[in-house]
Amino acid sequence: MDLPGLDASKLVTELAPAPKPKPANDQSLVFGKHFSDHILQVDWDHERGWGAPRIEPFGDLTLSPAAMALHYALQCFEGMKAYKDAQGRVRLFRPDLNLERLNASMRRLYLPQLEASQALALIKALVKVDAGWVPEKDGYSLYLRPTAIAMDPYLGLQIVNHCKFYVFTCPVGPYYPSGFKPIKLLADSKNVRAWPGGCGNSKLGGNYGPTVAPQMAAHDEGCAQVLWLYPTRDKDGEEDHLVTEVGAMNVFFVLKNKQGQTELVTAPLTDGTILPGVTRRCVLELARQQAQSRGWQVSERPLGMNEVMAAHGEGRVLEAFGCGTAAVIAPVSCVRFKGGDLDLPTGGAVGPVAKFMWDAITDIQYGRVPDHPWSVLVD
Ligand code: PLP
Repeated sequence: MDLPGLDASKLVTELAPAPKPKPANDQSLVFGKHFSDHILQVDWDHERGWGAPRIEPFGDLTLSPAAMALHYALQCFEGMKAYKDAQGRVRLFRPDLNLERLNASMRRLYLPQLEASQALALIKALVKVDAGWVPEKDGYSLYLRPTAIAMDPYLGLQIVNHCKFYVFTCPVGPYYPSGFKPIKLLADSKNVRAWPGGCGNSKLGGNYGPTVAPQMAAHDEGCAQVLWLYPTRDKDGEEDHLVTEVGAMNVFFVLKNKQGQTELVTAPLTDGTILPGVTRRCVLELARQQAQSRGWQVSERPLGMNEVMAAHGEGRVLEAFGCGTAAVIAPVSCVRFKGGDLDLPTGGAVGPVAKFMWDAITDIQYGRVPDHPWSVLVD
């Protein structure tokens, strides 16, 4: 039997009686702490399919203490942003890719699928209702958190019969309020974030909780983020560690290869250890567009710390940067590995490739590139 799919035409909107005061667009706007006035919610049931979507005043959820989401991490989420352009119009950035990834995460948990065009229509409706919450300043945006959770009150691991999809939003400021601050990374050869055949390529809450303790250990060593590694052997059979991701971002190293060409390297998406980042994809697509004119080689290939250290010793590591929705581009100044510091030649400055990517991506996000297909108007 075909159950009713997600249907944006059934949307019911109940507006908040009075809007909350909005935070100022300054350094007091802490990421993820201020929530706008409304939330979108849709419930799914294995016998009735998707119900009528609701936009309601933002508030707490009611769920059983036995809800499967709370015990077996049957939950997944997305992170995306809405931007206000110079004409005051609100724009989403490549929302189709977030919805595709959310559906992939939901499949990984055996949750129901969302019809992407309907989910996008509902997200647009939510952002329109709270358009006044999209900050008008460059570097500021409205962060959106689409989430799916298992609601079943059941202390046993089984398929989900009751699921809730909801989206709420938070105005956020620039990740680096005082401009780019290149970060130091702790390359962690002990804790592994994800592994081949695992679920690191899905955005499951269960992937993130266990990263807090290693992140605190990195802080204790004066490092801002963990560079996640995966143990392997190099081509000579020596112990090696593959570079996978940094914190909750994908990572690029810019090397001068043995032929003297600038090579942008990031880990491939082939074995399930890497989250397919929207920003990663943008960096790769922009780099490939520029490859010929700038003489860049663009590689999605395994990169081991042995190669990074050898290239660093020969002065061939030019720069490195993380990339993700929250920070867009996060330049790296230093990588600490096995007690030694690999200082990058860019030091406290932003490397030219990181700068190019920052400019190109933010110009599209804020609608400064006319009619770019990655920037989707909400109206
Ligand atoms: N890697 C991980 C583990 C993440 O959580 C994120 C953020 O969502 C990313 C990479 C970057 O992905 P995106 O560019 O889609 O934000």
